[in-house]
Amino acid sequence: MADGMNEQRDSSKRVGALRGLLPYLAPYRGQTLAAFGALVLTAVVALALPLAVRRVVDGFNEDRAALLDQYFLASLAIAALLAVGTGLRYFLVTRLGERVVADIRRALFDRVIGMSPAFFERILTGEVLSRITTDTTLILSVIGSSVSVALRNVLILLGGLVALMFTSAKLTGLVLLIVPAVVVPIIVLGRRLRALSRENQDWIAVSSGNASEALLSVQAVQSFTHEAPSRRTFGDVTEKSFISARKRIGTRAVMTAIVIFLVFTGVVGVLWIGARDVRAGVMSPGELVQFLIYAVMVAGSVGALSEIWGELQRAAGATERLVELLTTDDPVQDPTQPLALIRPLRGEIRLEGLRFRYPARPEVSALDGVDLHVKPGETVALVGPSGAGKTTILQLLLRFYDPQQGRILLDGQDIATLARSDFRREIALVPQDPVIFATTARENIRFGRPDATDAEVETAARAAAAHDFLTALPQGYDSYVGERGVMLSGGQKQRIAIARAILRDAPVLLLDEATSALDAESERAVQQAVEDLSKDRTTLVVAHRLATVKKADRIVVFDQGRIVATGTHEELVAEDGLYARLARLQFTDGGM
Ligand code: ADP
Repeated sequence: MADGMNEQRDSSKRVGALRGLLPYLAPYRGQTLAAFGALVLTAVVALALPLAVRRVVDGFNEDRAALLDQYFLASLAIAALLAVGTGLRYFLVTRLGERVVADIRRALFDRVIGMSPAFFERILTGEVLSRITTDTTLILSVIGSSVSVALRNVLILLGGLVALMFTSAKLTGLVLLIVPAVVVPIIVLGRRLRALSRENQDWIAVSSGNASEALLSVQAVQSFTHEAPSRRTFGDVTEKSFISARKRIGTRAVMTAIVIFLVFTGVVGVLWIGARDVRAGVMSPGELVQFLIYAVMVAGSVGALSEIWGELQRAAGATERLVELLTTDDPVQDPTQPLALIRPLRGEIRLEGLRFRYPARPEVSALDGVDLHVKPGETVALVGPSGAGKTTILQLLLRFYDPQQGRILLDGQDIATLARSDFRREIALVPQDPVIFATTARENIRFGRPDATDAEVETAARAAAAHDFLTALPQGYDSYVGERGVMLSGGQKQRIAIARAILRDAPVLLLDEATSALDAESERAVQQAVEDLSKDRTTLVVAHRLATVKKADRIVVFDQGRIVATGTHEELVAEDGLYARLARLQFTDGGM
């Protein structure tokens, strides 16, 4: 769990956090007003009901049958109004809740999908998912019901008190003595409830994060027979979430019991005194009935408010977390006024004095003063021992991170002055571990350029030596390839990734060669595809294969974040330095 987020949260304010939802309600002012109108209508009608009941009760004593009928009819009309109003209120309020939550879910995803990797280093993906699902569901319960129930009860509470006052000032005075006795325990226990509910939500988020991490790497878990520890970890976290839920429920139960007891003690007391007033002739029976109904309504609304207070607090916690997620600053940001990238791009890359440490590991210098000039169309192989900083170069070129010093120029333009989506459009990336989505092979290739036609997808697949194996699949290009491409071999996944890059047809190609060895045939196919792809494009390739470095125009040797040598394969072998050693030990294909 992200510690920074927790600290922020502890200093946060109670139900006031729900204000964070206001911007999402703002576009629906009309709907909000309509819902509020229905709410007030039903509250007013509910408050009018006891008046009718009193007339009916006192009507028994009077000898005017016609009036009695009228009172009954009036009661019926009020009930009808109440029914329609309640239905309307439910519809309007719930629709508003669903609408707002759908908007919040989208806003969250829209924001998170654009966050730079540094953001995801601090938070588990599953945790973000839990925010998008669990936390928004809590908010739905609030906007979709709790807030409206709360408002209705506040109206009934206030209206009921006024009506009580008019019915019997003396008895109302008694009731008012009871109210503080009910409210104080609600406030005290409510505070504890809020803390517990936040703790509970946090554990739920941690447990989702934990489960999704384990499930996403289920093969690693099973191959290392790590199931038992994984189960234990998940079990522990889930148990902790249960324990905090139990504490919350316990507190809530105690609070409910106390409130109910106090409320009913009050009602019985009032009834007692009222009954004596009726016997003494100070009050009519109808007035006592009316008073009692109001008193029950008022007590009921206090009870409901105390229940809902807890709900509101949980939702306030959820809102805080969502607002946090929606307002967390991305360490990498587009300039406020990005310059326009000059197109067409020739593909010249210049790295100037790059120094970089990963935010997660500030003690290690990943790049320690790198200068490099790559001419348009040139193919440069980056080689060096593992951890030397090669992949980091690609990450910085895509501006996933910002260097602490130095700059990166594309055709002479500093990428920090451009919109990321603008210059990333000019770059195709073939990552070491190709990302395959749970859809068809065709759609996986089309990912490189969503508007590509089927014919263009096939041309790209042919160029990537993927056409033959794709047509051999049961449904050809339309075969489902499984989550993360589990139904494809390593070489096949790579060729799909290459086809994707070919389809993108960008002037700059970044290639992170797979370290794992492929079978000889896949190897040749992939090699050929890469060669075709890098023709006429500026290519930076993190090379692990001899064939790749031999074909490169230039080889750049990295060691501990610095460039230690550059040259062609022959030149570097002749120097007999780090490269010559690496070449003997590290390159995966034969022939050395
Ligand atoms: P190479 O690609 O040459 O094997 P990298 O560029 O991946 O090396 O890594 C350079 C250094 O940065 C290494 O010390 C590595 O441990 C560190 N590193 C790489 N990625 C991250 C990351 N996401 N967070 C923290 N440190 C990282």
